[in-house]
Amino acid sequence: MYYKSTRDSSLRVSSAEAITQGISADGGLFVPDSIPEITLDEIKYLSGLNYSCRAAYVFKKYLTDFTDAEIQYCTDNAYSTKNFETESIAELSELFDGTYMLELWHGPTCAFKDMALQILPYFLTTSAKKINLDKKIIILVATSGDTGKAALEGFKDVPGTQILVFYPEDGVSPMQKRQMTTQEGSNVGVCALKGNFDDCQNGVKAIFTDPEIKEKMNEHGLMFSSANSINWGRLLPQIAYYISAYASLAESGEIALGDKVNIVVPTGNFGNILAAYYAKHMGLPVNRLICASNVNKVLTDFINTGVYDRNREFFTTCSPSMDILISSNLERLLYLLTGEDDKQIKEWFGSLAKEGRYEVTENVKKILSEEFSAGFCDDSQTKATIKEIFDKYSYTCDTHTAVAVKVYEDYKARTGDDTKTIIASTASPYKFSASVLEALEGKTSDLDEYDKVDKVLEYSRIPVPASLAALKNKEQRFSKVIDKSEMKSFVLQDFGIAE
Ligand SMILES: *Cc1c(COP(=O)(O)O)cnc(C)c1O
Repeated sequence: MYYKSTRDSSLRVSSAEAITQGISADGGLFVPDSIPEITLDEIKYLSGLNYSCRAAYVFKKYLTDFTDAEIQYCTDNAYSTKNFETESIAELSELFDGTYMLELWHGPTCAFKDMALQILPYFLTTSAKKINLDKKIIILVATSGDTGKAALEGFKDVPGTQILVFYPEDGVSPMQKRQMTTQEGSNVGVCALKGNFDDCQNGVKAIFTDPEIKEKMNEHGLMFSSANSINWGRLLPQIAYYISAYASLAESGEIALGDKVNIVVPTGNFGNILAAYYAKHMGLPVNRLICASNVNKVLTDFINTGVYDRNREFFTTCSPSMDILISSNLERLLYLLTGEDDKQIKEWFGSLAKEGRYEVTENVKKILSEEFSAGFCDDSQTKATIKEIFDKYSYTCDTHTAVAVKVYEDYKARTGDDTKTIIASTASPYKFSASVLEALEGKTSDLDEYDKVDKVLEYSRIPVPASLAALKNKEQRFSKVIDKSEMKSFVLQDFGIAE
């Protein structure tokens, strides 16, 4: 299998090249040249395997330049109880009759990004070896919270890599800040920036393309790669858990093999739901893909009208990981829906960069409406949903997951569709304790961050993830706060190439 770029269909690179490069030089995203098939017999076979072997089975179809042993090495290291708090890795929990929560947050940082970022470092280092890339890989991340921590945990002490994360000094939650500033590992760095997330992102982009830095890195045998969801190595792991969840439901008799299910995903960058789309087109029996947004509802509007328009107010919500106005993975979907029309993609995304807007063709609108449903809700509805499902089902969910539940309830009321449904649950409720507690108690609490966690425990009675509980007594390792103008010299220092 080869990978092409969404902006150049004639490109042919191996998966190892696509993963090490992260993004194509033409600005497009890497996509496989075809979607491999998975049959019901194969899904039945997967039922008998553990998560690591199920994932390996799916990855083999895409990483055809990897040996079976290399893939198994990656999955065994990533998906073990060393890193995840549950044997099943991705836990399924029935919320009510025929509706299942796919809990993707039992990894080290308590958000679903661990599902991909625990394995990406193994994909990357294996890929680098495979193409004889004799360089140390530097991962540079700008984060608004979840990605930075998940990338740090994934890359910590991985030989041949080094990671540096920038976060906005006042732009992350106290818990997220503690998670990052206490990070362990000998190859990790964390630095706060006086500014907002955009300043971090712009600074990181400038460093990626700085000719002086590039030359020095070359001299010292270093290269950059990306841990963002533009990297195919982050999208692929997410396809596996939808197939695995279906195999588990079939195994336990909740569904008959071949029955269709709906999949609901709380969406930001469109990575997680795109993975569900790939799973469906491999052959997983899926009825509707339901895309859930908070009030930054650019995707709801797009799916319902075919017009993507980012010229709108940006809202800060209680589901911050979905506060996004540019969903980069949509480019991959549109590439597929236009029959791989790279010229059309270049035109639309050029227009997005220039005018902040594009409108797709009638044909694409039609396919979108056949595959996807979309909806959104605001913070008060999100919190009301947390309270409602706690009262009804004694289940505590985080704010992002609650958006998905609410949008699903609306969908069901509107359509009467009673197909069995998998809802992607993307974060532990403890990671967003303040909002969850406010939802449960109907008022803001003045407890400190750790006491809020203890208070949520009194309601949910599910164990507090060990990694969050341990934060309280961890030593702070990183306290540096710098100005935008200091980023470049800081980076050179950190990589040891200053002189
Ligand atoms: C990143 C994130 C999302 C959004 O996922 P996308 O793949 O960007 O659509 C949703 N929920 C949580 C908790 C996240 O961290």
